[in-house]
Amino acid sequence: MSIRRRLFLSLTFILIILLAFGIYMHNLYQTLARHLEEANMLSATLRSLQYTQISQASFVKYGNSDDVNSCCREINAVKNEITHTTLLPEIESQTNSYITYLDQLKIVRIQMIESEKYLNETTSALMALLSDEALPSDLDRAYLLSKLAVGMNTENRYQLFNLDYDVNQLAYLNDISFYAESIRKTASTSEMIETSTELYNLSRDLFDVHKDLITLRQNLTQLTAQLNALVDNMTHEMDSVMDDLRLINDRVVNQIKNLYITMFSIILFASIFILAQLSSRINNSLKRLTDGTKRISEGDYSSNITINGNDEFAALSMSINSMAETLRNAHFSIVTYNNQLEKMVDAKTMELLQTKDDLEHLNRKLVQEKEKYVILAMTDALTGLKNRAFLISYLDQAIKEAKRYHHTFSIMLLDIDFFKHVNDQYGHHTGDEVLKSLAEILNKECRQADIIARYGGEEFIIVFASTPLEHAIVTAERIREKVSEAHFTALDLHITISAGVTTYRDDTTSALIERVDALQYEAKGNGRNCIIHDLTPASEAT
Ligand code: GH3
Ligand code: MG
Ligand code: MG
Repeated sequence: MSIRRRLFLSLTFILIILLAFGIYMHNLYQTLARHLEEANMLSATLRSLQYTQISQASFVKYGNSDDVNSCCREINAVKNEITHTTLLPEIESQTNSYITYLDQLKIVRIQMIESEKYLNETTSALMALLSDEALPSDLDRAYLLSKLAVGMNTENRYQLFNLDYDVNQLAYLNDISFYAESIRKTASTSEMIETSTELYNLSRDLFDVHKDLITLRQNLTQLTAQLNALVDNMTHEMDSVMDDLRLINDRVVNQIKNLYITMFSIILFASIFILAQLSSRINNSLKRLTDGTKRISEGDYSSNITINGNDEFAALSMSINSMAETLRNAHFSIVTYNNQLEKMVDAKTMELLQTKDDLEHLNRKLVQEKEKYVILAMTDALTGLKNRAFLISYLDQAIKEAKRYHHTFSIMLLDIDFFKHVNDQYGHHTGDEVLKSLAEILNKECRQADIIARYGGEEFIIVFASTPLEHAIVTAERIREKVSEAHFTALDLHITISAGVTTYRDDTTSALIERVDALQYEAKGNGRNCIIHDLTPASEAT
């Protein structure tokens, strides 16, 4: 199962638990609220019952027919109220008993009212009879009348409706019936017999009515006592029920609290468990992936990452394994290709080394050739002396240095006298031999630092490095002498030279050569085999 799906299911699970818990709590609260509402209604009903009890007690004592009706209405209202309330069974049964009692009470009271009404009428009739002139003994009559009058006194109306009154009335009525009976027995006229008989019957009737009334009153008192006891009992029951309800309420509140704590703990532990599971899975998978990819990065393409399951990590491990396999194949191809390349490179390297040796050999040859050509470029082929081009270049450089460092140097231009005759007489080859031999003499007579160059056909220039004109003149003269004394070729030829000698005087190469050439020309004109220099005026020169 994928990690996203796992998280989603875990969250859904927690949400469902929370929802169920919320619904359960809601129902619990509603039940509790209903119980409390019923208890409140019940206590209101009880209060109303107590009120009714008080009003019916007063009606029992003092009520007339109007009071009875209003009391009945009140009782019915209470009855309706009680019937519409959902009560606990014990309260309900007691309430029903109460209503039955009230009904009985109502009937008894109505009977009493009727009896009292009848009593009043009968009493009035009795009083009328007692006031009859026909009855004897005014004294007795006055006595009975006064007794009845006391009972009928309207000011004491309310006192008449009690048990003592009825008991007294019974005694009076007994007296009256006894009196009527004695009158009837001693009656002299038929009118008297009739009146006394009527008086007797009335008094007996009244006696019975009062007797009934006494019974009714006793019933009423008993019923009232029973009702009072019932209401007290109900009140007590209600108090106990209310206490129970309060206890249940407290217990439910505690249970809710415990339930909250339990639910919170369950969710907390479930979350921790789920998170621990997930983190363990992620951690292990990441470790395996890290180790595996590290092995692969180190070149171990054969290593396999094993992650079981079917989540993202398992999929990733499979992808990496497949990548490793691709890398393994690619690596194998690269190694094979690399081996081929290495062989090719070795072969090429060998070729290149060979080529390098060849090239080095060629290069050495070229350097040698170059050196040879450089030498040849500045060497006269016949005599081996420096050629005219080298001389000009050398003089340019020597003049620059002389200017900068205030050096001095001198120069000699010599020409073979009548050389044309040598060629003409002994041949050109001999002429060449003479030129070579002259070069040897010049090399021999000059210092290493001096430059000897073949300037033209049989003309030579010698540059005396760091040499003042005086010393150059001496050397020039010695050279002239050596040449004139030398034996050239197998033919033992003798030649002479004419030369000009001068020194550098802050002039250019061409100016310097022109000057020495002019001196040499002058030497020719001076008869040849001589040196002309410009140390002193030319005319003084030898
Ligand atoms: P001068 O005393 O006036 O110098 O007379 P000269 O005969 O030496 O002068 P000229 O200039 O008339 O003749 C020079 C000759 O030198 C001409 C030429 O045949 C010869 N010559 C020049 N270069 C060479 C060379 O390389 N080899 C030979 N054998 N002869 C040369
Ligand atoms: Mg010449
Ligand atoms: Mg010459």
